[in-house]
Amino acid sequence: MKTNSFRAEFFMAVLMLVLVFQLSRQAAAIVSASATVLSPSGQTLSEPAQKPVVVLDSGHGGFDPGKIAIDGSLEKDINLQIARRVKQYLEASGVETVMTRDSDTGLYGEADSNKKSADMRNRCQLINDASPDLVVSIHQNSYHEEYVKGAQVFYYSSSENGKRLAEILQKRFDYVSGSDNTRSAKANDSYYLLLHVKSPIVIVECGFLSNRSEAALLNTEEYQDRVAWTIHMGIMEYLNTR
Ligand SMILES: [Zn+2]
Repeated sequence: MKTNSFRAEFFMAVLMLVLVFQLSRQAAAIVSASATVLSPSGQTLSEPAQKPVVVLDSGHGGFDPGKIAIDGSLEKDINLQIARRVKQYLEASGVETVMTRDSDTGLYGEADSNKKSADMRNRCQLINDASPDLVVSIHQNSYHEEYVKGAQVFYYSSSENGKRLAEILQKRFDYVSGSDNTRSAKANDSYYLLLHVKSPIVIVECGFLSNRSEAALLNTEEYQDRVAWTIHMGIMEYLNTR
């Protein structure tokens, strides 16, 4: 009886030692893995894999308000509010982001005689200089009949990657907007940005400012957040399935 309980205790002690040994080995592995990335001063010692780069383009800005909503709100403001939220989500997911603008200013100079064309030219230049993995240009739509609503994503006709990104985003928007949004991603070969940007690019028209209920939604933080999350998730799906 006494021998049996001694054996049991001895067995338990050996088991504990093995467990402690295993745990300390795992801890050492974790510490050495992080040590290859960061030194005590926080400097990068060995470069981690390169982060993907995404340009977020907030349509319009400055003198150019974009569409004016049925309630008087301006497309340029909603575009920027959504883009800022997408940026936060992407950065939390380890994606480097570049914004074409982060305030209510267009990309033109006061001296430019044609501010709209200077703005578009400079936007393209900025985007091409960043040579990103992809570009999402954020806009809001409008139509002369109020009942029209829903999101739609555009891509450049001859860009296979642009088409793939557009289809991923459109599918996610159709899900967010519910059963009445059954739009398909649409090819386009005349939009300036689609023609002049070299990286895969999509234009996301998040909703119709001419529709009273959609305009009201697009001005709420909750809906902007939902739209931003949808765009972020679509981008991550595209990047992770390349
Ligand atoms: Zn627009």
